[in-house]
Amino acid sequence: MKTFCGRANPTTGSMEWLEEDEDYDYHQEIARSRYADMLHDKDRNTKYYQGIRAAVCRVKERGEKAIVLDIGTGTGLLSMMAASAGADFCYAIEVFKPMANAAVKIVEKNGFHDKIKVINKHSTEVTVGPDGDMQCRANILVTELFDTELIGEGALPTYEHAHKYLVQEGCEAVPHRATVYVQLVESKRMWSWNKLFPVHVEAEDGEKIIVCPSEVENCPGVPSVCDIQLNQMPSTDFTILSDVVTMFSVDFSKPIRSASTYYRVQLEPVKSGKAQIVLSWWDIDMDPSGTINCTMAPYWVKSTSAFQWRDHWMQCVYFLPNEEPVLQGEKVDLTACRDEYSLWYKLQKARGEEESKADVRVESPVCRCQAHLLWNRPRFGELNDQNRTRQYNKSLMKVLKTDSVCLCISDGSLLPVLAHYLGAKQFFRANNLEDKIKIIEARPELLTPSHLEDKKISVLVGEPFFTTSLLPWHNLYFWYARTAVASHLTSDVTILPQSASLHMMIVEFQDLWRIRSPCGICEGFDVRTMDDMIQNSLNFRESKEAEPHPLWEYPCKSLSDPQEVLTFDFRETVPQHCVSTKGSVNLVRKGKSHGAVLWMEYHLTADISVNTGLLQISNEKGNCEWNPHCKQAVYFFSSVIESEVLSDLPSAVTYAIKFDTKTGEITMDFKL
Ligand code: SAH
Repeated sequence: MKTFCGRANPTTGSMEWLEEDEDYDYHQEIARSRYADMLHDKDRNTKYYQGIRAAVCRVKERGEKAIVLDIGTGTGLLSMMAASAGADFCYAIEVFKPMANAAVKIVEKNGFHDKIKVINKHSTEVTVGPDGDMQCRANILVTELFDTELIGEGALPTYEHAHKYLVQEGCEAVPHRATVYVQLVESKRMWSWNKLFPVHVEAEDGEKIIVCPSEVENCPGVPSVCDIQLNQMPSTDFTILSDVVTMFSVDFSKPIRSASTYYRVQLEPVKSGKAQIVLSWWDIDMDPSGTINCTMAPYWVKSTSAFQWRDHWMQCVYFLPNEEPVLQGEKVDLTACRDEYSLWYKLQKARGEEESKADVRVESPVCRCQAHLLWNRPRFGELNDQNRTRQYNKSLMKVLKTDSVCLCISDGSLLPVLAHYLGAKQFFRANNLEDKIKIIEARPELLTPSHLEDKKISVLVGEPFFTTSLLPWHNLYFWYARTAVASHLTSDVTILPQSASLHMMIVEFQDLWRIRSPCGICEGFDVRTMDDMIQNSLNFRESKEAEPHPLWEYPCKSLSDPQEVLTFDFRETVPQHCVSTKGSVNLVRKGKSHGAVLWMEYHLTADISVNTGLLQISNEKGNCEWNPHCKQAVYFFSSVIESEVLSDLPSAVTYAIKFDTKTGEITMDFKL
């Protein structure tokens, strides 16, 4: 079956109707899934295996048959571990059909088809009884239903149901228990992801400060989890205000209540400061005694944590609704509220038992100021970047004249405000304060002279930034919008940025390569069926596509010098013909060529640029420093060339990169 799906093209802005295969969503989901990352997580796998062996032993020692329920079996891995450990029978539940199909094949291939029954259902639909999916209730419950926030993938309601209907009382559970830890910190860097700091404008008549409206200042923000690779956050970027404390634990072997609740702990600050952020992570004990422990603790808590890299489980950053001054030694109450799927925090002065019970409000934070809906966390960080603002400030000063008529095309941009403070008299802003800035609610191609009060635009500006952009070059939408408004521009219009360039570099990733690398054999089980399925989905459409990743979180080493590969001149309209380039880039360091990274640089004026990608190569080893607010495009090579010595490497990688001006898409091909 084919379906037509409508979507706005992020680069050209035009509405497209694409004929999609029925399986299109599946392929997308499989191609970008985290299954490979999980199966490469050796620490996780070995600890599950140990925990499962121990649970099967405990049941057998009681003289019982070991009947396993594995909820969310994926490839069938944990069920195969259980069967190998001597379990008598496993019910492997998987809701995602393509994965359940793969599990059937994998179980068969590894010779466990008589011990494992794969059931393609959501666990809450599973029936028990002589004619049911399961003959009887299980006495071992194995799951891996956790996300970085622990409960975000619905582990609690799933466990609640399983204990009521699918497992015996007193069952063994692997993992046995999860514990959530918190630490209070002050961090200007992380706080800048949730609040708008005052913007300093250097005008000719002195410095002016744009302050954030109080609605934004006092807004608690949005409830969505902020999960990051905290191990990439240098210790100089935050100040620890409390010890690490246990917020709450969940015992998975006992009945579970998923209904909203709260937990409260008392903290004694180890330092005075501004409490802004709660950092949080969890660990799981695979057995009741807690000897088999798998932890997400960051490097300053557990020094070896950086070696256990994983992307499917990271750490959480929670923003307190407001920053609170705390004093060393003066106790405070930290409350964690949760519903079935998410958590949020609040901090109060420590009070008596009764008093504190009286006032527990468990509504999750909702953005009242709109800004948190318009700007995501990296975008807040970008707008708060004073160095970046300075570049726009300087370049606007160069191009603005007192009689300029300006139009800004960018989503949720502060440029109009900046320009206003710099003295621009007439300002229009398309798409998205005062009398001096007129907001036009029209798409660029629908702009009419009356929107502009019959004036011609003499300065067209953009950051450019659009919320619909996923890949760096999607912001070329600015170029299309500029083309659409061409008839409203004066003949000597100034366009800022005047041009953009696409840059490329070959890299070796420290860890990120794992997410797209085949697993082959995992803990002795052949999971190549899953590798093939992922490869098939990648080939379905994505094969020649790059994917966005915030590389400040994913260390890599440059193997080639960065190279400018394409330029886009915004002073001209978008050309009819395609823009393409071919060339080769020399490998200058030994290492594994995992892929190419691509990013955009915007040339605001002839001598002022903002870079959304590589900031610098920090040392002779080739370690890279990336723009912390932007995602870069990563194109993974299908085969990795590895070499110990430079002379064994191909000396160059050849590339062909094409920008199709009709579709706005950039396609690429590399040969090693
Ligand atoms: N157990 C595998 C895969 C874990 S990923 C492993 O450890 O490698 C979690 C899987 O659980 C996903 O495939 C997801 O589709 C599935 N899932 C999540 N909740 C489920 C539920 N309630 N019932 C059935 N499957 C579920």
